[in-house]
Amino acid sequence: MKAHLVGAGIGSLAAAAFMIRDGGVPGGDITIYDRSKLLGGSLDGALLPDGSYSLRDGRMLTFDHYECTWDLLSTIPSIEHPGKSVRQETEAFNAAFKANSQARLVDRNRHKVDVTTMRFSMADRLELVALAEASEDKLGASRITDWLSPAFFETNFWFLWQTTFAFQPWHSAVELKRYLHRFMNEFPRIDTLGGVRRTVYNQYDSIVRPVSTWLAHQGVHVQLVDEDGKVRVRALNLKTGDHIDTVPVGADDLVFLQNGSMKDATSLGSMTSAPPHLTKADSAGWVLWENIAKGRPDFGNPAAFNSSIPESYWESFTVTCPTPTFFDQMEAFSGNVAGTGGLVTFRDSSWLLSIVLYHQPHFPHQANDAQVFWGYALHPDRIGNFVAKPMSDCTGAEILIELCGHLNFDRSVFKGASCIPCRMPYITSMFTPRAKSDRPLPVPANSRNLAFVSQFVEIPDDVVFTVEYSVRAAQMAVYRLLGLRREVPLVTRHDRSIRTILDSVAKSFA
Ligand SMILES: Cc1cc2nc3c(=O)[nH]c(=O)nc-3n(C[C@H](O)[C@H](O)[C@H](O)COP(=O)(O)OP(=O)(O)OC[C@H]3O[C@@H](n4cnc5c(N)ncnc54)[C@H](O)[C@@H]3O)c2cc1C
Repeated sequence: MKAHLVGAGIGSLAAAAFMIRDGGVPGGDITIYDRSKLLGGSLDGALLPDGSYSLRDGRMLTFDHYECTWDLLSTIPSIEHPGKSVRQETEAFNAAFKANSQARLVDRNRHKVDVTTMRFSMADRLELVALAEASEDKLGASRITDWLSPAFFETNFWFLWQTTFAFQPWHSAVELKRYLHRFMNEFPRIDTLGGVRRTVYNQYDSIVRPVSTWLAHQGVHVQLVDEDGKVRVRALNLKTGDHIDTVPVGADDLVFLQNGSMKDATSLGSMTSAPPHLTKADSAGWVLWENIAKGRPDFGNPAAFNSSIPESYWESFTVTCPTPTFFDQMEAFSGNVAGTGGLVTFRDSSWLLSIVLYHQPHFPHQANDAQVFWGYALHPDRIGNFVAKPMSDCTGAEILIELCGHLNFDRSVFKGASCIPCRMPYITSMFTPRAKSDRPLPVPANSRNLAFVSQFVEIPDDVVFTVEYSVRAAQMAVYRLLGLRREVPLVTRHDRSIRTILDSVAKSFA
């Protein structure tokens, strides 16, 4: 038996690791394919040729959730700490650097907003409970705005929750309900982000590098034929330029496909240029899923997720500072040493701008004085408050001008800095309203040898836009296709803990 994995995101890397660790599959029988030059999919982080760093994001993790992810990382050796696992290394790091945000929201007057209260009215509380307690069948493909009134979107709670998890009011009500339950124990500490855990460096260096020993960089197509009503993958066509190599898929072989990707059609800008506006037409990312789902309802409906860029796009940026000047001023303003504060959101900014100062160094070989931070905006299509342009048309230099405006910092704090904007047209495509049938199961009922490992599969109770969702999909798919009698770690039901429920009620009335 050989296993072919199409896409080299964390979902595929995890599937390969589970096959070897739990299924006894020899590593030499596993091949991973991707068109990117690096493994890891969305979990990237790199030094660009001009000396700037670029990150799609720095992930927030927790130890109270992410059951499958920590199961995986507890048996992956750390690169920098021989004898320790990545999980142990991450636990030690977080014991030393605890998150306790002191400046979570900043208003138009540059005042830190008091976020100990959620600023709920009784109507807000009742609407939120109605959404959280409605069944998924009842919520169907409705939007958050179908359940919550305009006043709700002005509460402290919404600004905190929205910018922590990247929700928009027009996103899926079902997904918000799942988040409210899955992360209920984060609600009482949402004002300080006290439950957030970080990796030592960016996630490419701290997760992807240790996990990955499998490399492949090619464009992929799958050929499928129906057989006795079941679907069997017979061959993979790997396209490099105009050349196509066909990899036969044997009768006992398995194929894992990463259907759809939030990183599809991503583009980078520079200090002097805005990122080009790409769409799925400029990349082949969604095509494979679209082709194989045609006429096969069990394989889902990609159009539910990739049909409206205005509903799924935002932009991030990575700033490399040559000196500590900006970090010093920001630490003095926020009251947080870098690495302990989490997101600082400029609540009244028209772009809805947030930044995060990570623990330094954020890259293993970062120059001594260099400091790297990351930011993002949920409304990059709006005109800025200090730059008369939508963020999506701005250069890195213009984004820094906007940021200085909100902080009332002199622009000289960014002397010699480099800001790399990153446009992501499908970044929240997983959050768009969906029907249950729009996402395939990790192993569809009519599949003999094909599994889906991605953010676009149906897994009860768990939530998308997390590393955990892809790792869980991988573990479920591997155990099912290999017929393993092992349990996938359960989703921890913090929402059924009396203590969590009482703390949440108290917080909502604080
Ligand atoms: C800005 C941002 C912020 C985030 N914040 C958090 C956070 O705070 N906490 C958290 O837990 N998670 C966060 N996430 C989400 C997390 O990073 C993703 O859920 C996870 O990395 C997805 O992994 P994946 O393997 O499913 O897919 P991806 O990372 O999307 O990888 C899929 C790969 O498959 C490849 N592929 C697909 N089709 C083909 C094909 N036909 N041929 C060849 N290759 C193909 C793609 O090119 C890609 O490399 C964030 C993500 C981003 C981008």
